[in-house]
Amino acid sequence: MPSLTSCEAKSRYNVIYVEDRAADFPVTRTILQKNSGATVIRIRNYKDVFSRPRQNTIFQKQNPSLILAVKTEPYLYPGPDVCQNFGFDAFYYSNFLLNCPFDCEYCYLGGMYNSAITVAFVNIEDFRSSILDASQKHERMLLALSYDTDLAAFDGVYSYTNEISGWLREMPSLSVEIRTKSANIGLIRNLPPSASLVFAFSLSPQSVIDRYERHTPGLESRIRAVEAAIDIGHPVRLCFDPVFTAAEFQADYDLFFETILHRIPAEKIRDVSYGFFRMNDSFFKRIAKNRPNSMLYLDEYEITDHVVSVRSDLRESVAARHLEKIFAHIPKERVFVL
Ligand code: SF4
Repeated sequence: MPSLTSCEAKSRYNVIYVEDRAADFPVTRTILQKNSGATVIRIRNYKDVFSRPRQNTIFQKQNPSLILAVKTEPYLYPGPDVCQNFGFDAFYYSNFLLNCPFDCEYCYLGGMYNSAITVAFVNIEDFRSSILDASQKHERMLLALSYDTDLAAFDGVYSYTNEISGWLREMPSLSVEIRTKSANIGLIRNLPPSASLVFAFSLSPQSVIDRYERHTPGLESRIRAVEAAIDIGHPVRLCFDPVFTAAEFQADYDLFFETILHRIPAEKIRDVSYGFFRMNDSFFKRIAKNRPNSMLYLDEYEITDHVVSVRSDLRESVAARHLEKIFAHIPKERVFVL
């Protein structure tokens, strides 16, 4: 299994496809300079590679390639109902990347795309002006930056987070969330703390990480990253999502919540999100076909309004047990349960 270092390394990609129109962008030049050993292949349009049928996504995850492309509109999408809006009146997400350096078994991306190749969009000025326009129309706007990826895990290749952090000064109504499983303390130290930039750390028991979150840092590294972010003064969100209800994990969850909530001072945590594994039913069926040996996709679920989710009786009993522990440390109004 590749280590965290290899996932976030500067030269992780052996092959980099470059769209003709992306070739002259500064982001492209920076990434190619950092990956000078990669084979570079020019392409007409990223979809010629990314969207072609019958790709072996498991192989692609083991042998990662990168596509540098120019995105066309839209640059912002409305946040979906299955995600928390944390009380903001406008909630959007943005895709600077398609796909993710990590490889979580429960991730819906495997059901969404034909390909596991990462696409990085290089026309960041178009994103900036679209985000600026939207932010001027709302009093309080939340932008999720890691909705379809883990942007912080890509930081060693190109620091979109650094670019976006610089935009916050001209967009006072904007708050951004960098949700991550990464333990990139360099990034945490580099970004100036701002009330408008929240680091949202996804945390799970080590047994869940080992089972489902391939290529991600271990729990201890993530806790250290949380501690570093708090020390530096970044607003910090803890994300216990997705939670799994299998009986074999429950003792680990008990110990996990006790450890996290004793080790990380509650008053330093802005808020907490908590939710169970859930997925659009068509993505679920597609991933189940591609991962025939995954026990996760062989389990029994409920389907409501095309969303596959854990049975409601299990959700209630497991959530009651976990939330009791969380509420003992964090006031209910700072805990968002989905
Ligand atoms: S870190 Fe998030 S986006 Fe990346 S593979 Fe895991 S669940 Fe998917």
